Amino acid sequence: MTRRELEVTDQNEIKRILGTCKYLHLALVDEGKPYVVTLNYGYRMDTEDGHLVLYLHGATKGRKLDVITKNPECSFTMECNVQPFAGKVACQYGMSYESVIGSGHITMLEDPRERMDALQCIMKTQTGRDGFAFDERMVSIVSVMRVDVAKYTVKKRPLPEGLKTK
Ligand SMILES: Cc1cc2nc3c(=O)[nH]c(=O)nc-3n(C[C@H](O)[C@H](O)[C@H](O)COP(=O)(O)OP(=O)(O)OC[C@H]3O[C@@H](n4cnc5c(N)ncnc54)[C@H](O)[C@@H]3O)c2cc1C
Repeated sequence: MTRRELEVTDQNEIKRILGTCKYLHLALVDEGKPYVVTLNYGYRMDTEDGHLVLYLHGATKGRKLDVITKNPECSFTMECNVQPFAGKVACQYGMSYESVIGSGHITMLEDPRERMDALQCIMKTQTGRDGFAFDERMVSIVSVMRVDVAKYTVKKRPLPEGLKTK
């Protein structure tokens, strides 16, 4: 990070950002070439040690699944509270934001209980609510994945003082 003052280290602040972003950009490597796909996610973070797990879901066919099957290593980024701001000259224009960048390993979930749990987690992150009803069929027609995040950093760029927003 080029400006250390923008790094977010407070665990509660990190949780708030993880709960706000709602979707991430998942970077995969498809036979040596990059492939990025946007996905909604659910997250679990241990506030003691910061350990982070993400859950993803989607169709049971498609390129991302083919790629993950061959290479389950990933990187990701997510952002929220993006707000453009204007300046007097071109280089003073920019965007305030909160964002996360990380990397990890993807596991396809097969166990029905773990899949259900992951889908509940996704719904909790997406809506803030618990206790959605899933029947066996709903759980069986999607692919469900867990990302064990090996490392991640969180950054916040505040709106500059004195600059008007667009
Ligand atoms: C905000 C947001 C949230 C999303 N959340 C989810 C989610 O939770 N789960 C999920 O499975 N998908 C989600 N999607 C859709 C996702 O980004 C992919 O389009 C989808 O998962 C299919 O990916 P795939 O690799 O299987 O592509 P395939 O269906 O195999 O498509 C083949 C090719 O079509 C093109 N293509 C596919 N999707 C898109 C696209 N969206 N835009 C432009 N070109 C495309 C690409 O070139 C791709 O390689 C979301 C998209 C957005 C924008």
